[in-house]
Order: sequence, then structure tokens, then C-alpha cells
Amino acid sequence: MRKTIVAGNWKMNGTSKSIKTLLESLTAGVPVVEGLVTLVCPPAVYLSQVKQQLGSAPIALGAQNVSAQSAGALTGEWSLEMLEDIGCEYVILGHSERRSIFAESNADVADKVAATLAAGLIPILCVGETLEQRNAGETLALVAAQIDAVLQRVGVEDFASVVIAYEPVWAIGTGLTATPEQAQEVHAAIRAQLAECDADIADQLSILYGGSMNAGNAAELLAQQDIDGGLIGGASLKADEFLTICAVATESRK
Ligand code: PEP
Repeated sequence: MRKTIVAGNWKMNGTSKSIKTLLESLTAGVPVVEGLVTLVCPPAVYLSQVKQQLGSAPIALGAQNVSAQSAGALTGEWSLEMLEDIGCEYVILGHSERRSIFAESNADVADKVAATLAAGLIPILCVGETLEQRNAGETLALVAAQIDAVLQRVGVEDFASVVIAYEPVWAIGTGLTATPEQAQEVHAAIRAQLAECDADIADQLSILYGGSMNAGNAAELLAQQDIDGGLIGGASLKADEFLTICAVATESRK
């Protein structure tokens, strides 16, 4: 059975004090269930603090970005070696905010995924269309191209260690959510794209939905056949919302 993953993307939010309070609630309430992975992705400056506070709690640590380079004169960047050094296991890559605000191309994202895999960390590869692209009927082709750029770079075997997050750009941080049917259509297409290369890897691949997922809409999204968890922004900053989504994810495995 595929892993169900609930990942919190805290984006550029929090202070050491608010993060401490949030983590106290999360570590006290997160369910321990076989096959369920929960993780939090704090701002980079707080990764070590979060790792320390997590201790042996069943919550993994993820970063929101990383450089594809190993070291050098790259002011403001951090490397995979550094993430590994502080106990980080996952890296969100290709988030739409990285693609649109920081101009990361499909090729940049593919380089970062390749470097992350080479370092033994798990990339959470984000893909998704803008509203204009959806309205133009380009969603499936656009998402397929975003995935293909990585497939061409690393090969299908490496997707055994990749998590994909389908995040329609128009649903991120907007309060708009893809309907379960809209999301399922894209998730199924992603799995079919991978299955053309390797059916077993496609079957085992965890594909998360992201885009205003919250405690109220998680159940219907996670009930979809090809939705294996969530990448959660705003709702992951509220302990009760995040823990409810974890509980819903637990139910969805039954
Ligand atoms: C995200 O940032 O990945 C995200 C899905 O944000 P939100 O849940 O706030 O839409």
C-alpha cells in the first residue's frame, strides 16, 4: 500500500516562540499509524530549532528549497549536505512560488531533484497549472511537461524515492480548492504518465494534493483513489487544523 503523507509547508511564517508553541501541540497530538508520514517544513532559519524540539516525535523534517550546488560562493543559499547535517529528510522543490517569484524553470527544478536524490533526501516535486492554463485546457499537458523534465533528468527508477504534489496554482493560498474530481483527474493522469515507464513505481508513488486543503475539505479529497495525502500551507500553521487533517488521512487508509 502507498504511503499517505501529510506535509505542512509553513512558508515564510513563524517566530521561534510561535513555532515552539505550534510544535508542542503537534508532537502531543500527531497520530502514529503505519504507512502515515507526517512532516513539517519550517523556514530554513528554524530547521535546527524544529529538529531539536521534535526529538523522537513521529514527525519528519522538510526544507522548502535547496541549492542544487554542493558548496561555494552562493550567498543566501544552503546545500543538501547542510540539510542532511541537521537531520532534514525531505525537500519541497518546484513549489509554484519558487517557479513564479524566483523564476525557477523546469530544468532548475530537475537539477534540484537530481541533487536531492543523489544526497539521499526525498524530493517533494510540486507541479500545477495557473487558472489561465486550466481555462485554456492546458492542465494535463502542462503538468505532464513539468514531470517529464524531471523524468528525463533522473529516469523513472528514481521516482521510487520521489513524492509528487499536485498543486493547482489558482488554489494555493486563495481559499479556492480543486474539486475532488478535478484533483483526481490530474492525479490519475500523473500516475498514468509514470505507469507508461514503470507500472510498479507508478503504483507505489505518493501523489499529494495541495491548494487550500483544510480540516473541512480534506476528507473528500483524500477519499479519491489517487490522492495519497496533502501538502498544506495555511492550515498547517494551526495545530488543530493540521491534526484534524492527519486524523482524516489516517481514516482514509482504512
Ligand atoms: C502550499 O503552499 O503548498 C499550499 C498548498 O498552500 P495553501 O494550503 O495555503 O493553499
